[in-house]
Amino acid sequence: MTIQDSVGHPDQRVALAPRLIGLGPSPTIAIQERANALARAGRRVHRFGLGQSPFPVPRVVVDALRAHADRKDYLPTAGLPELREAVAEYHRRRQRIERSADAVLVGPGSKELMFLLQVAFDGEILIPTPAWVSYEPQARILGRLSTRLAHTGADRRLSPDALESMLEGEAWRPRVLILNYPNNPTGLTYAPDELAALAAVCRRHGIVVLSDEIYGELHFEGAHASIATHLPEATIVSSGLSKWCGAGGWRLGTFLFPRELAWLQEAMRVVASETFTSTSAPIQYAAVSAFQGGLPIERYLARVRKILHAVALEVVRRIREAGAAVAMPQGAFYVFPDFGPARRALAARGIRTSRELCSRLLEEAGVACLPGSAFGRPPDELTARLSLVDFDGSKALAALEAMPQGADVDAAFIELHAHAVLEGVESLLRWVAEGPAAAASTRG
Ligand code: GLU
Repeated sequence: MTIQDSVGHPDQRVALAPRLIGLGPSPTIAIQERANALARAGRRVHRFGLGQSPFPVPRVVVDALRAHADRKDYLPTAGLPELREAVAEYHRRRQRIERSADAVLVGPGSKELMFLLQVAFDGEILIPTPAWVSYEPQARILGRLSTRLAHTGADRRLSPDALESMLEGEAWRPRVLILNYPNNPTGLTYAPDELAALAAVCRRHGIVVLSDEIYGELHFEGAHASIATHLPEATIVSSGLSKWCGAGGWRLGTFLFPRELAWLQEAMRVVASETFTSTSAPIQYAAVSAFQGGLPIERYLARVRKILHAVALEVVRRIREAGAAVAMPQGAFYVFPDFGPARRALAARGIRTSRELCSRLLEEAGVACLPGSAFGRPPDELTARLSLVDFDGSKALAALEAMPQGADVDAAFIELHAHAVLEGVESLLRWVAEGPAAAASTRG
């Protein structure tokens, strides 16, 4: 349902902001609510919708939260000083970005900080697609100009040439490029030399980069690198607890600014002080231990990466075997298959867009996933995002912990511990190949 639909009778007096007319709830949130409703009604639902970590918050971080549950005072708007220090040190340690605690702004989720950025930055937002579902609606809510960069190479990543040719001959104006890697929804990332080449184009054209590195620690090899090392003067690094720390519901995000953008940081802090005031105090105290890291967190992350990598490998193998195209992710917990090869057969069933594909998948096969169009892809590109998170991450972690050090997570492990994911993928693939009756049948 969109905001417009909920206004009521046409003769009712309303004062709805015109920019909100036609805007619906965020697809990531809406799909979860729809899946929950179907499950409550007794349907078996394969949950590939919302992208939230299947893993628990590391024990040390939960203990820190418990120890600080009584912290009840408002904190400084920019964040708890110890946390700002820990975040700056984290970026120094992990991505070799040299900035001080003053450069950190803490917020109730990086999503909120991104919104504040768009409030404060009077310019154009460049969004290479496929891109996370909320960047563009945020621009729309605020009346900002946003431009999709759709020509992002065969593997759907932004190439320096594509960026250059898009900007060539254009007059300078303030622009923010949102670069997200490992990427939601593809799981693809950039190698250091590719980041350097993109940075050179951005520097030449005076572009600010919002580097959304929320999945950085979920790079399967633990080898995430930041564009900030190549474009230190114009990169804002976005991170948070939601993905690598399994704490999406805790709502804590961080931005790291260069000195050159201190004016923007300050403007955002002022707006924050007039809106959310400060981020939840106990959560900030707990986050200190997460960003400080240490052996338990390193071990946790090593296991998380291994499991996510193995799940992705197995899912990609099955999708390719079924004839759909899909890139092998390098991090995070998504895959973004393209069912273009089945276009003719799907059209015969009345399915011509990714939206139709996903809504029929949910209705007929109980598979909840998001259409490529929600990620800014053309409506008739038959892509969909699957969040590979429908399994008990605590059990999988415990099972891996019980295995000898250095043991591999193989397909048999995934079959056992991420069974629901594989079952869902099989239902999806059967439905694409043969239609609703096949999806419902169990494999013999
Ligand atoms: N980022 C997650 C996703 O893409 C969920 C949270 C959100 O979108 O706000 O599914």
